Amino acid sequence: MSANRIPLIAGNWKMNGSRADARAWAEAAVAAAGDASNDAAVFPPYPWLGEVAGVVGGSRVALGGQACHGEVSGAYTAAVSAGMLMETGCRYVLCGHSERRALFGEDDAFVAGTLGAALRAGLEPVLCVGETLEERETGNTQSVLLRQVDAGLAEIRGPDDPLTIAYEPVWAIGTGKAASPAEAAEAHGWIRARVAETDAERAGRVRILYGGSVNPENIGGFLEVPDVDGALIGGAALDPAKFSAMIRATPATAPGA
Ligand code: PEP
Repeated sequence: MSANRIPLIAGNWKMNGSRADARAWAEAAVAAAGDASNDAAVFPPYPWLGEVAGVVGGSRVALGGQACHGEVSGAYTAAVSAGMLMETGCRYVLCGHSERRALFGEDDAFVAGTLGAALRAGLEPVLCVGETLEERETGNTQSVLLRQVDAGLAEIRGPDDPLTIAYEPVWAIGTGKAASPAEAAEAHGWIRARVAETDAERAGRVRILYGGSVNPENIGGFLEVPDVDGALIGGAALDPAKFSAMIRATPATAPGA
């Protein structure tokens, strides 16, 4: 983390939890975030967004959608527009989570379309980028990340458009095998430098989150990296005690740090 940027601790619940779970998890996050030094956000399944909006409204926990469509409306069965997320109380939306890319066929062009739609609706996109294990092992990590970042940056209309980026190596998501802080530092450095090529001021303020098997034991190590500005957390965010500990984590006091 850097003194200029408040870390964001974000929980992506994916397709997990009942309505009652969502309420309980959100209540725990609100309690943990009260006087924490980090910002916090939760990304519930669509059906629970309204319920969770009621819990986190007025608190330090922001609400986010897990994805959106690039179109404003139309015959896109099961899709959700950025405007709908905005109207439900969301501040953020994930764009191009690796599961959307791998399981739902979202390519760079589609992801860029969702990012543009998010901005036009008034949401802050969280652009997710990351290499597969094969891409890493064949020495293509940097080129893949920059290609994905460039596709998103092309949708930015001006310096006031909000943006968060999440570096999530695909091989680290849900595997229990997190990247090392050094691997994250290298990737985050490439990403920030790329942002700087188009907007140096944005590069200084953009939050770049690390995601991939983050837990209460390892989060402190990531927060020690100057270019890591928080975490996007899947599995461990489903445990309210763990997520609360991570919301309150700091480089100095993180559990296990
Ligand atoms: C994710 O899906 O964004 C993620 C980081 O998952 P996990 O923390 O379970 O690896």
